Amino acid sequence: MKRKILILCIDAGSHDYLAASDIPNIRKLGAAGFYRHAAAVVPSVTNVNNVSIATGTFPETHGITTNYHVDRDTGIGTFIEDLCRDGRFLLAPTLFEVAKAAGFAEKTALFVTKRKLLRMLCAGADIAVAAEAPPPAFIEVAGPVEPIYSVEINWWLLRAVRHTLRQHDADLVYCTTTDWVQHTYPPEAELSQRHFAGLDRIIGDIVDDNPAREIYITADHGMLPKTAALDPGRWLTQQGIPASSIPIIKDRYVAHHGNLGGAAYVFLENRTDTERAVQMLLQANGVEEVYPVEEAAREFRLHPERIGDIFVLADRDTVFGELDVAEESVSVRSHGSRHESYVPVIGYNSPWAAADFEYNVDVGRLFLASLPLTAP
Ligand SMILES: [Zn+2]
Repeated sequence: MKRKILILCIDAGSHDYLAASDIPNIRKLGAAGFYRHAAAVVPSVTNVNNVSIATGTFPETHGITTNYHVDRDTGIGTFIEDLCRDGRFLLAPTLFEVAKAAGFAEKTALFVTKRKLLRMLCAGADIAVAAEAPPPAFIEVAGPVEPIYSVEINWWLLRAVRHTLRQHDADLVYCTTTDWVQHTYPPEAELSQRHFAGLDRIIGDIVDDNPAREIYITADHGMLPKTAALDPGRWLTQQGIPASSIPIIKDRYVAHHGNLGGAAYVFLENRTDTERAVQMLLQANGVEEVYPVEEAAREFRLHPERIGDIFVLADRDTVFGELDVAEESVSVRSHGSRHESYVPVIGYNSPWAAADFEYNVDVGRLFLASLPLTAP
């Protein structure tokens, strides 16, 4: 029988959220297949991890290292918003493109909550749906559009997936939700538990409809409470080293996280300051790890031309941002650091074993490796 695959990336669907929720169907999948703890790509932010899973490669290959790119030479910043591999930032083909070129897939489908990820990953997708602004035909089957800051929008998305599987039996489906709930509520909160219970019910329906389908459930990152914020660029400048920094999480959805995240790229006015800046940043409050560009690229498999001059990771309680002061107190739930780079990988009907999945990326990587070698 032909393999059919569904990859579901629950945004911030980390083990602590799953463990606190009533999710009998997801548990059943894990019991019948496997449920393991794996690593996310660092920086542990949404686009970097989704693109890694959906291309089966690390950022050194696919090129997406941040939500917001600053050109090292001109200093001009832009949101990374490619349109179906238009050649701007995304350097690797999607799983859809490779699966089609290899003759694995006739029909592919991409489901996301936010439009920006749809644009980034739509190359090779026959069906592409963003819950934020769905095609009218999907409103008929999955219901009216839900607010982006709601639990309902993610349920809507999974209902749309279920409908598409029933209607088209697509060979390869990639779906990813959004994490407003986890940014707002801890695992034990009532709304968070309702969110996961709702997702679980629809996942149960999908499995009942498609008992033979290969299903992977993973996440892009975890989520932790933060109490301190630091602006690494401003802080360095105050120490006499002119610099600026961008929080990697920075995007247009400020209500999620206030553009505060646990990783930042630092741009120095003078690159000759690198060594001194690295040493100084190690003394700053809330900074846990500091890497000059080449070392960062090696250690985290990042693209060396797209990570500024220095890569900084925050400690467990700290986020980086563009602030009016160098340091301040905050109360926010966020991600981006090594501390949120933990994800589950649940595999059902998988030809591979739990031990094969060290990273969430391996869900895409192993699939690619199982295809006949044909580059798109
Ligand atoms: Zn995310």
